[in-house]
Amino acid sequence: MNFLKKLISILIIFGIIYFGVTWYLKPDKIKDVESTINPEVLVNYNHQIPSDKNIKLIDYKGYRIADIAYNDLVDMDEAAQKDGVILQINNSYRSTDEQKQMFNDKLISYQNEGYSYEEAYSQTKLTVQEPGYSEHQTGLAIDFSESGNQIHNDQMWDWLKQNAYKYGFILRYPEDKYDITKITYEPWHYRYVGKEVAKYITQNNLTLEEYVGGN
Ligand SMILES: [Zn+2]
Repeated sequence: MNFLKKLISILIIFGIIYFGVTWYLKPDKIKDVESTINPEVLVNYNHQIPSDKNIKLIDYKGYRIADIAYNDLVDMDEAAQKDGVILQINNSYRSTDEQKQMFNDKLISYQNEGYSYEEAYSQTKLTVQEPGYSEHQTGLAIDFSESGNQIHNDQMWDWLKQNAYKYGFILRYPEDKYDITKITYEPWHYRYVGKEVAKYITQNNLTLEEYVGGN
């Protein structure tokens, strides 16, 4: 009898420890692994990606996306499919090293075409941001395109222009805003800012620079 009492006591103690530990470790308590980057963060030629923020990346069809944009991207993809449009991603998150590589490759290709280093550098900057200054390093930017398929691209870009804001994405480099963004028109480049902000920016024909109030 005494043995049975001891056994029950031990089981109760282990039970309490088990449930205590499980509660403590439940997912919403592990805050430090989730993204702390603000979806409205301005990253451009003048604003480097903040180094004190964490970006948690999730794989989506082989591309890395910040966790805070993930659910809305999935919803957008499903909505496009319902309208008969397949969204093809060809670029998302890039690390600083990958951005460096991309910048240098472009720079070298311009130099090979005969441009001087200075000319090649300024040409490169028109389409590729310097390492540390690319939105792709936030995990919040996505390029939608399929190389060699202009019909599909036009279809995707039309759909995105009409609908992306409903899912928190904005056309980041519009045709008539080069003076502000310093990036030429990119119909494929979309940036996650959250639904409310995306709606406001799109309906008022603004850039993120204008929205946050600074270049
Ligand atoms: Zn891009």
